Amino acid sequence: MTPIHVLAAAPEVFPLVKTGGLADVAGALPLALAAEGVRTTTLIPGYPAVLDAAANARAVHAIPDLFGGAARVLRAESAGLDLLVIDAPHLYRRNGNPYLGPDGKDWPDNALRFAALGLVAAALGAGAVESFRPDIVHAHDWQAGLAPAYLHYQDGRRPGSVLTVHNLAYQGLFPADLRETLKLPLRSFAIDGVEYYGSIGFLKGGLARADRITTVSPTYAAEIVTPEGGMGLDGLLRARADVLSGILNGVDTSVWNPTEDRRIAQPFSAARIDRRAANKAALQARFGLTRSPETLLLGVISRLTWQKGLDLLFDDLADLLQRDLQLVLLGAGEPAMEAGFAAAAAQHPGRVGCIIGYDENLAHLIQAGADAILVPSRFEPCGLTQLCALRYGALPVVARVGGLADTVIDANGAALAAGTGNGVQFSPVTRDALLAALRRVAALWRQPAVWRRLQRNAMRADVSWTLPARHYADLYRALVAERVR
Ligand code: ADP
Repeated sequence: MTPIHVLAAAPEVFPLVKTGGLADVAGALPLALAAEGVRTTTLIPGYPAVLDAAANARAVHAIPDLFGGAARVLRAESAGLDLLVIDAPHLYRRNGNPYLGPDGKDWPDNALRFAALGLVAAALGAGAVESFRPDIVHAHDWQAGLAPAYLHYQDGRRPGSVLTVHNLAYQGLFPADLRETLKLPLRSFAIDGVEYYGSIGFLKGGLARADRITTVSPTYAAEIVTPEGGMGLDGLLRARADVLSGILNGVDTSVWNPTEDRRIAQPFSAARIDRRAANKAALQARFGLTRSPETLLLGVISRLTWQKGLDLLFDDLADLLQRDLQLVLLGAGEPAMEAGFAAAAAQHPGRVGCIIGYDENLAHLIQAGADAILVPSRFEPCGLTQLCALRYGALPVVARVGGLADTVIDANGAALAAGTGNGVQFSPVTRDALLAALRRVAALWRQPAVWRRLQRNAMRADVSWTLPARHYADLYRALVAERVR
């Protein structure tokens, strides 16, 4: 098979910079694609953390004026990734969150900062650097969404373009009067271009002009073409349904490997699930909970936003805790939700533990020590938390939406009879349905042999990147073949 070369454009890449699942995808997919004969080079903004990690970088391209300042493209290797870094100090040399300033609000020049990502991706795709001729430019989310649009409207060499939607809720909308500044031609400001209800839509422009659109699960791909799930873009997505598909995410199974995980109290395997006990004890201690092996321990690891549905827990927490149940939560996000969970922990000492913040190590311990992981999202494009939970034998208790619906097998009567369940699903995403699901979880917990069986099923599920990478490779190949014809 002819090797394919992909230029991925992403605003965050694990382990260099991460705010969400997109970073995990951008960090892990290239390694899995290598096994499929696909070479990936990843273009990423030069935030301080990226420049630090790319210490061995060398300049391969100079841009005298990239939206108000000189920039260079650096080539570097880090964490096994072949990187191109946009070193543009006026745009990216700022510490902290890649999207938000110290006041917690979007950087005022985010339109320029991320148009630059799309523009440089398109320039590199078109051959700005000698000897760098990618077959495909693969843009991730609104931040790189303009890449397919810039590619479409520019002259010269044109590689294929793919846009992956990790979350349709974030669309990158900016005022129309930025059009010239952003070097978007007048004709691009149209229904089949970047125009979106009188504004410039970065994601919309990409959706309109990409050769292929993917999103991160088959169910989410079906949801986003409906008015309920389409967030205003369902009409366009329906029009482009012939090039839209859903490919599940995987997780990096070397990072998430319970048999060799140094971040947890005791490694374990499907054959030695009993060894999870030490992790449960460590988790209860870490969160100041009563040490109790028999108590069902629920874990939550999440951004605290409306999407994640965790507010459904608030009203019922007292009710829930009448059952023999403990809850640990690790999360950060909306201040009201952070305060709500901190207050719940203070109100229910020994039973509810809450740590506000972002902590990779602790996320591993929760996956290894909790009996079940709760993901009650109102919508969820793919979701990674439940995939890690499966791998760690923490039964996922999930809303039946998006990728959660595609990756968890509900342990209902039929599944139990067939020996296939690996978690619990509920629908609709309401307090009552969530409570009913937790009652089912509690009933399963009281049957240790059944629970153990479900844990084994969970740990056997293939959550690696192997299959998803094959799907991406097939999609790239089909696109390249179509363009050669
Ligand atoms: P999203 O990208 O919408 O936040 P995903 O489930 O796709 O949700 O990916 C989020 C990833 O980040 C998961 O691996 C999750 O466990 C992890 N994560 C979320 N919040 C935290 C946190 N506070 N600390 C550590 N890991 C977190």
